[in-house]
Amino acid sequence: MDRRSFITTSLLAAAGALTGLRIAPVAAQSGAPGIAVAQSFPVGGATVTAFSDGFLPITAEALQGITPEDFKSLLQAAYIDGDGHPSGVNAYLIETGGERILVDTGTGQLMGPGLGQLGANMAAFGLDPASIGRIVATHLHPDHIGGILGPDGNPYTGASLTVSQPEIDFWQSDEIRNGAPEQFHPFFDQARAAVGAFGDRLEVVAKDADLGNGITLVPLPGHTLGHTGVMLESEGSQLLIWGDIVHVGPVQFARPEVTIVFDTAADMAAATRADILARAAADRMQIAGMHIAFPGIGYVEKAQEGYRFVPRAFPYG
Ligand SMILES: [Zn+2]
Repeated sequence: MDRRSFITTSLLAAAGALTGLRIAPVAAQSGAPGIAVAQSFPVGGATVTAFSDGFLPITAEALQGITPEDFKSLLQAAYIDGDGHPSGVNAYLIETGGERILVDTGTGQLMGPGLGQLGANMAAFGLDPASIGRIVATHLHPDHIGGILGPDGNPYTGASLTVSQPEIDFWQSDEIRNGAPEQFHPFFDQARAAVGAFGDRLEVVAKDADLGNGITLVPLPGHTLGHTGVMLESEGSQLLIWGDIVHVGPVQFARPEVTIVFDTAADMAAATRADILARAAADRMQIAGMHIAFPGIGYVEKAQEGYRFVPRAFPYG
């Protein structure tokens, strides 16, 4: 299969699954009293702050390679009731070397109520989006670039946007867009609008680019072809912000082979996940994930079945 028909086939499979995908209505929750909205952690001399954009319930229909019964029993093993897994949507602010870098921007207005809380949570935390100097997008899906497309325009008025070359190439390709099922065209149009909002402050870089200040991109292809993690190294400490390596924690840590309908290249996504989980466990690597339960920072350990996520200890001081 050539690359284009491969991608088209993947998108068609996703389109089929999407029609059966239930996204349960979510009451507005983030920002309510008692709900954590932001949490800072030191990483060496840097500070990383996790921001919640809300959460998205993901049901078994959205996953491939697992039966609904196994999905349910893995959720129950994690003490989660109901049909859907409440997958977080997180963004991470890195403050290091006098720079403020935001990794991903949440959903904005693109994915309905219960999400799109990032701006309000930044305000509650006292962070002015205009003070951010650089945005790095792990990939250009709507739950990562939606915050750029605000009702009043792009709130990140002082920032550049950094995206990997293969990610830009995919979403800017008319050939791929026109070959994709029509219900995926908005994904392309949203990605292009987000990129376009930065004009000449768009910075297209190699998939393993060194961004300075101890920050490098780490290619993690499969979920999208240009999907990249962001590695922060400071004073001997590390954090890999791995984007969308895991969408449903209780399922995909245990079974890395389980994929999601939004993967552009599902087999590649599974192989990348297996590889990075093995590396993270072997190296005791600190990771952060956009869809791991807030704040989504911790470690990966070998478990009886596959792996398990160990949240980082709460940073009391
Ligand atoms: Zn995502």
